[in-house]
Amino acid sequence: MVETRFIVDSMLGNVARWLRMLGYDTLYNRAYKDWKILYLAEKENRIIITRDRGLHHRAMNRGLQSLYLYMDDMAERLAYIAYRTGIRLYIDLDKSRCPVCNGELKKVNREAVKDRVPMKVYELHYDFWECTMCGKIYWVGGHWKGIEETLRKARQVLEKMKTGGVFRFMEGTI
Ligand SMILES: [Zn+2]
Repeated sequence: MVETRFIVDSMLGNVARWLRMLGYDTLYNRAYKDWKILYLAEKENRIIITRDRGLHHRAMNRGLQSLYLYMDDMAERLAYIAYRTGIRLYIDLDKSRCPVCNGELKKVNREAVKDRVPMKVYELHYDFWECTMCGKIYWVGGHWKGIEETLRKARQVLEKMKTGGVFRFMEGTI
């Protein structure tokens, strides 16, 4: 099964980073003009995620899949994307992509990163992942609590959406 793929407009870089962490192939480049986003979405069968109503409507008119993301809260945004596309709201670092460059991550031997992370990090952690494209090293650090908290809230909002409890998320509001 081919995983859902995305392309995100220039205003939503943080959404792109989240989708990559969740393991979804997501294109994002601040230099992409609207025509390029539409072109890549069509060519590579990607779902457009945008805050630009004009771009959203142009995508719809072309028969492309597009989500108009009008809310600001990240948990609500992720819940809405999950509601519309079925993405999972759990992070499995073995499936994650690099939030910086969209490269796939692979687990690396702890010894191999010894000289590439701060000594304190090395001492405190046993599991490390490396981006196969840019080489950045990842581990489950202190910021993880915040990530888990956002995802937990996103899953709660998603449940409300599924039961119809959040009326402003209805399609008619777009
Ligand atoms: Zn990378």
